[in-house]
Amino acid sequence: MAQQVSEKEARQVAEDARESDWKQPSFGKELFMGNLRLDLIHPQPKLDPGAVEKGETFLAKLRDFLQNEVDPAQIERDARIPEHVIEGLKEIGALGMKVPEEYGGMGLSQVYYNRALMLVGGWHAALSTLLSAHQSIGLAEPLLLFGSEEQKQEWLPKVARTHVSAFLLTEPDVGSDPARLATTATPTDEGYELDGRKLWATNGAIADVVVVMAKVPRGGRAQPAEPAASPKGDGNRGGISAFILPYDAEGVTVEHRNEFMGLRGIENSVTLLENVRVPKENLIGREGDGLKIALTTLNTGRLALPAVCVGTAKWAVKVAREFASERVQWGQPVGKHDAVAQKIAYLAASAFGMEAMLDVSSRLADDKKNDFRIEAAIAKLFASETGWKVTDELMQIRGGRGYETAASLAARGEKAVPVEQAMRDMRINRIFEGSTEIMHLLIAREAVDSHLQVAGDILDEDTEIKEKAKAAVGAGKFYASWLPGLVAGEGQRPGSFEEFGDLAKHLRFTERAARKQARSLFYGMGRWQAKLERRQAFLGRIVDIGAELFAISSAVVYANTIASERPEQAEQARELADLFCAQSRRRVDQLFHDLWRNEDDANHKAAMKVLDGDYKFLEEGIIDPSGDGPMIADLPAEVQEPAVA
Ligand SMILES: Cc1cc2nc3c(=O)[nH]c(=O)nc-3n(C[C@H](O)[C@H](O)[C@H](O)COP(=O)(O)OP(=O)(O)OC[C@H]3O[C@@H](n4cnc5c(N)ncnc54)[C@H](O)[C@@H]3O)c2cc1C
Repeated sequence: MAQQVSEKEARQVAEDARESDWKQPSFGKELFMGNLRLDLIHPQPKLDPGAVEKGETFLAKLRDFLQNEVDPAQIERDARIPEHVIEGLKEIGALGMKVPEEYGGMGLSQVYYNRALMLVGGWHAALSTLLSAHQSIGLAEPLLLFGSEEQKQEWLPKVARTHVSAFLLTEPDVGSDPARLATTATPTDEGYELDGRKLWATNGAIADVVVVMAKVPRGGRAQPAEPAASPKGDGNRGGISAFILPYDAEGVTVEHRNEFMGLRGIENSVTLLENVRVPKENLIGREGDGLKIALTTLNTGRLALPAVCVGTAKWAVKVAREFASERVQWGQPVGKHDAVAQKIAYLAASAFGMEAMLDVSSRLADDKKNDFRIEAAIAKLFASETGWKVTDELMQIRGGRGYETAASLAARGEKAVPVEQAMRDMRINRIFEGSTEIMHLLIAREAVDSHLQVAGDILDEDTEIKEKAKAAVGAGKFYASWLPGLVAGEGQRPGSFEEFGDLAKHLRFTERAARKQARSLFYGMGRWQAKLERRQAFLGRIVDIGAELFAISSAVVYANTIASERPEQAEQARELADLFCAQSRRRVDQLFHDLWRNEDDANHKAAMKVLDGDYKFLEEGIIDPSGDGPMIADLPAEVQEPAVA
């Protein structure tokens, strides 16, 4: 039975799962308040020589393994990762890239973990998906962050070497909205009994051990032992909780292996849990901490996905260069026709900008001195959106050959360039690990956090007028000092940021734009007050402006880092940074324009009419091949009554 959950309850669940503290400085948080704190990302932390040596040795081994042992065309053809490939990944230690050495893993830095994923994902995206679902959201990361020492000792050596893991949150009724979670964990004398059905679990069809999110009823009878991570042991709190589940436990059934548009070869499951018993030692953290664990895990875990997108963007530049210089039409290589040249420049600039953002965020993650949750979230949002546009433009550059499968190209005797596959594989990145729409909400929530702290009551629909008036007095003091600071800044001073040479102009722009963005958000708050959170198009643009400003800052800082670490590439890096910043600034200008001049209200009204069926005449003259059947079903098709007569 579908859970009935109000919008307010759903928001509250998301709010409770949020990490509310800011223990360390955050570039992103400051940026959204109009403060370009370049010192938080520049100079970039230097890579540790030991980590570089370890990382490079592993990358060489991984490259060798992929090229000699793994046939990506076979994975694509069979939609299966062969057994020997999974075994080989285990043997070279790829399952434990991020697990510290003391627990039997490789202990790679975030920078090198990302580079490994980039390498693997470029060979076949099903492989990077397997590895990142296993390590970034599977058992290792939640245990490292929240597990007890006993849990780490028991499970980390296994997931580092032999056990494939998965992360089971999604259900037929739970996608972006975990408040609807229906899987239960009923306390028993020894631990918990799990019941429910989990959907779309990557690795779920072959996993050895998984993390399951299930809801413990509040105030149940048994009192689980106090886990190490729960020093307070505050009773049967209940709520969504995270459990370690060995997959050979009785009552676990893989009901279906799902297939998708792309990522052919991933082992993605519908998993039924029926009276599955787990001991109390398998609770990670405390009862009710499940979503916080999931979200905190994703703060770092989210960097895996942009790494794969960056890999695809780099490959797109290579394919575009090779094809567009060789393919001649209308008397010259297609790359020399201006329309195609524009696209090639977009590909190259975007690959540089995406890589810069990833490098800046990953070094922050390794350095551990900053809060980088906003940067990682922006990297996911920006890389998945830009990566999609990049593959689309690459397909256009390749023309008909872009649309043709690699196998068909090879059969005709041409190079088997898998552009259509790259496009199918890329598309999911805008949907999983937080869809673009949810990332907009999540980042917007962080962007307005400082405002909520001083003026939360004013922005809350439920606050009484009297309380609002009181809150306004307190908030007034804050805004009396904050607002004037947004009028002028370094960005207006010619010659500021001079250490960046002719890239300084982009930082001056960023500084001015950060203040303008903060002012715009403030106007939005004034105009819509509590209703601001419903203005998703407005907030989405604010977030996108912030994302572009982080991208520009990263590109300039990264070009500077390249100049000191790889001086032979300094000039080219500077040129690409300059180009990326110019393109990005144009997008920022457009976003600012669209903040106040748009059809948002008309669009919203029209959408409501579409939903109400007012424009049904538009649907005349077609046949829908979908057949009948429920849009959202509790059961997989093979265990349902046939849907189509
Ligand atoms: C290939 C694949 C692998 C996956 N792997 C895993 C896995 O390993 N483990 C796991 O637990 N899950 C996994 N998932 C699930 C994935 O995380 C979800 O698909 C994702 O969270 C989105 O949920 P949904 O598909 O149900 O979309 P829905 O929540 O149904 O959303 C539909 C649309 O509405 C938008 N939307 C929803 N809520 C809002 C809102 N409040 N405001 C604005 N827009 C909104 C969404 O962005 C989307 O565009 C996987 C999915 C796929 C397809």
